Amino acid sequence: MRLFFLILACSIALARGTHAEPPFPGSVPFEIQVVPAPPAEPWRLLAVEHEGVIYIAANQLAAALHLEKFWRADLGRLVLSGKSHRISVIEGTDLAVIDDGRLLHLAGPVFLSAGQMMLPLDLFIDENGEPLPWIEEPLVFSKSERRLRIGVPKASLEASRAKVSDTGWQLTLNGTSRLNPEVRQEAGPELIVRLSGTAYDAERFPLPQPRSAWMSWLLGYRSESTADGLELHIIPAAASRGYQVTSRDSNQVEITLGSMTESLQPFSGTSFVSLHRIAIDPGHGGSDTGVTVKGGKEAKLDWSLAGYLQQELLNAGMDVVLTRSDNDDPSPESRSNVANHTNADLLLSLHVHGRPGGPIVYLNAGGGQTLGASSLDDLGFHHYGTDHGSHESDSRVIGTAIIQSIVTSGVSNNMSPGIEAASIPELAGARMPALLLEMGTDPRNGWSDSRLRSLAQSIAAGLRLAAGSR
Ligand SMILES: [Zn+2]
Repeated sequence: MRLFFLILACSIALARGTHAEPPFPGSVPFEIQVVPAPPAEPWRLLAVEHEGVIYIAANQLAAALHLEKFWRADLGRLVLSGKSHRISVIEGTDLAVIDDGRLLHLAGPVFLSAGQMMLPLDLFIDENGEPLPWIEEPLVFSKSERRLRIGVPKASLEASRAKVSDTGWQLTLNGTSRLNPEVRQEAGPELIVRLSGTAYDAERFPLPQPRSAWMSWLLGYRSESTADGLELHIIPAAASRGYQVTSRDSNQVEITLGSMTESLQPFSGTSFVSLHRIAIDPGHGGSDTGVTVKGGKEAKLDWSLAGYLQQELLNAGMDVVLTRSDNDDPSPESRSNVANHTNADLLLSLHVHGRPGGPIVYLNAGGGQTLGASSLDDLGFHHYGTDHGSHESDSRVIGTAIIQSIVTSGVSNNMSPGIEAASIPELAGARMPALLLEMGTDPRNGWSDSRLRSLAQSIAAGLRLAAGSR
């Protein structure tokens, strides 16, 4: 009998429409449809149910999961081996050994039936239908549908809608399969909801367009597709009103700001940044005049804005250095060097662009704002600890505060796209929190001195907010 199995084990693979002979009186055939991904034709897996335990044929499952099989007929021992895990079972026992160390109790004994080693399903799949850790292939089993999905396709967003009421704002996301929201709020009030492994097709299922009616709840939000999945960055309008992220069912996620639901998490908004000396970097300059908008050329507007901001900050008791004079255009490195050599607490680059829209704060992407190849390296010091990227969190706190302040001041009537990461040479060399503020230009009103002055006041208020003083 065992020898017969050995021969069969080599020849039977993925047989379709096979039925198991009941191994015990009272056990019943339990066909499982196997749905492979990427889409191929589903096939049926040999399975039986006995006393509530579902058994599956080792051969077929091993083939489907790309496990190698090793069989020793004399010991009645079957070993299934994947890239980094080994499962070992012995006929007639309800024990499995995982990775030669971990003993697993199965729901029923392993047995041979019609030349097939039949294994309890709980060797592979937990009670939620999810694969156990030693199964390397993505796998989801539904008992009610009698369906096993192998190589589970990535979830993708297939619908989203937002609603707003007097008490809150809610964004509902629907996925094609399970969405696993993970909330991050490590940097000030900015709320980041990460959906790992979720694809987002902005063309087919765009997220709702921000509307000005939302602004009493959030100042802006944007999506970011990362290598890991989808991230939503949300800047709430009021730090005190709290948020909640829930999964009503596994394919649906609700993100709520305000009190549409109970038990809100407060926004942290308590991490303050020490801000005494600010390096203001007026964009462009010299022969580089930047964009031309209603109100003038950008380099000139950036310079005026810097002047007004300098005055506001001096009035608030802060120190200010400027990275350029009125008519020159220093290199990106010399701009950040000014901030480094003066031991500034923040490098803030100021720009306006020609399109309408709310304030955008850019951080330098790729963990810029790091020590980089500093002179310490030349002196033989080795980088130690976690300095790399350590300013990102502070930069986000400051950026969020600036956006909150600008949007709530009424200088801009537009939702903000929030904080974005991009390659910003001016910021790359900075050894302190560093950000670039880009303001949209209202094409009708453009920029006047009084509007630039209001903008400077709201930026200064944002910096005071980030520093914990009002
Ligand atoms: Zn610019």
